[in-house]
Amino acid sequence: MSATQTAEGIRTRLWIGNEWVDAQRGGTFATTNPATEEVIAEVAEARAEDIDRAVQAARAAFADSRWRRMNPHKRSRLLWKLADLVDANADELGLLETQDNGKPYFEARRIDVPSVAQTLRYYAGLADKVQGDTVPVPGPFLNYTLREPVGVVGAIIPWNFPLSMAAWKVAPALACGNTVVLKPAEETPLTALRLGELAAEAGFPAGVLNVVPGFGETAGAALVRHPGVDAISFTGSTEVGKVIMREAADTLKKVSLELGGKSPNIVFADADLRGALKGASSGIFYGKGEVCAAGSRILVESRIHDEFVAGLQAGAARATVGDPMDPSTRLGAIVSEAQLDRVMGYIEAGRRDGACLVAGGERTRVNGRGHFVNATVFRDVDPEMSIAREEIFGPVAAVIPFDDVDDAIRKANDSLYGLAAGVWTRDIGKAHRLAGAIDAGTVWVNTYNQYSPASPFGGYKQSGFGRDLGFHSALEKYTHLKSVWVALDG
Ligand code: NAP
Ligand code: MG
Repeated sequence: MSATQTAEGIRTRLWIGNEWVDAQRGGTFATTNPATEEVIAEVAEARAEDIDRAVQAARAAFADSRWRRMNPHKRSRLLWKLADLVDANADELGLLETQDNGKPYFEARRIDVPSVAQTLRYYAGLADKVQGDTVPVPGPFLNYTLREPVGVVGAIIPWNFPLSMAAWKVAPALACGNTVVLKPAEETPLTALRLGELAAEAGFPAGVLNVVPGFGETAGAALVRHPGVDAISFTGSTEVGKVIMREAADTLKKVSLELGGKSPNIVFADADLRGALKGASSGIFYGKGEVCAAGSRILVESRIHDEFVAGLQAGAARATVGDPMDPSTRLGAIVSEAQLDRVMGYIEAGRRDGACLVAGGERTRVNGRGHFVNATVFRDVDPEMSIAREEIFGPVAAVIPFDDVDDAIRKANDSLYGLAAGVWTRDIGKAHRLAGAIDAGTVWVNTYNQYSPASPFGGYKQSGFGRDLGFHSALEKYTHLKSVWVALDG
């Protein structure tokens, strides 16, 4: 990325109005590679005054209509061009993502980056389809609706899929004619900055996309409070989501919250057990379990429980911990030491509460460094234990037995969260019954962790509200619906 190479390493600045600018107070913070504990870059730290500057840039770009009134076909072409640039720079983006987050390079390069290009192209297709309806009203009137952009969107995203989360917010917001101020997670700011720079290269006008790394309590909070921001699109923890909702109340921003989960992956005895085992293992171990929809509660029908747990143990053993650059690595580094401490705290709590650890549970290092833990499975988990109730955000599975369909539904819904669920059965009636009965924004049947830009994603209950992705959900989130009445007899 175009950043300054200094004697100490890479330095990046804030990306505002299509330019690199220093933070006004000159502060910086280090972002590190969790697999090696080395500093990758010194990143300019946005504080309230920098957020204000970015919001002014986004406001100006919105107010003078350079973006919202652009020929929609041209807006569409720019999003498509950005997708092409993401593809053209996929190796670099994948590498930055791996270094910043610790995920295996093959995942970042083969899954994350291509999905970003796909999301941009999907929303390139929306840009020229933002339209209203004509409405049949009584009387001598013509009534029609307009879909208008909400204005400046503040996007705040987490560290687990930094570039994908940026694309999930930025692509639909821009397609609908909004301008964006994006605050990436402090752990993983680099790919978002690069995306801003690529957008300028694609030809996006200045101020349309601004990227301001910084800390949640300062930069994030300033964005949420700023009167010049019309909407906040947030993905992150339930805890911070609640703070954001409160803080946004003073300026009555449009808020959408994609929050945490404790998703049940439910395996019936009549399932294709090989497929279910693969789905249950990858459901919790993919992405180091740092996946909001991770299938962290594996509910297993009692009569296959022991056999299934043996399979999960084998699956955990195959989830090789290693250097993220090694193609045989399946579990990369946990994003930070603090996050690894959290995960280890839950593993300790599981042991203390009397759950039986049957795989993993050890903090490890690779080549003598880094923050790693191996794939972990607990059996005999009581639904009241913290490992069954709280989001761990690490590769830790809690296996809970159930007796029948009703027991499965009751246990699946016994959670504050409602983000996603998996159901494994060959019985089509049972599958649809469960799909209807589970309180979750996504239900996967005989599969897990499937995503598409065309399909909406988001939560029930304390997993939040609003939907990322999808066509209608993007229009709901990033546009206002205006009703226009015209008298026909005047
Ligand atoms: P987090 O601590 O909630 O942080 C998310 C973002 O919010 C970060 O950019 C953070 O900045 C910022 N932030 C923190 N405090 C803030 C405040 N007071 N005001 C405004 N912004 C603030 O979450 P995380 O640890 O990065 O990510 C993990 C969480 O994200 C998990 O709970 C996971 O389930 C959830 N997640 C949900 C989805 C979904 O679609 N539902 C997808 C992915 C992840 P800092 O980086 O400086 O803390
Ligand atoms: Mg980092």
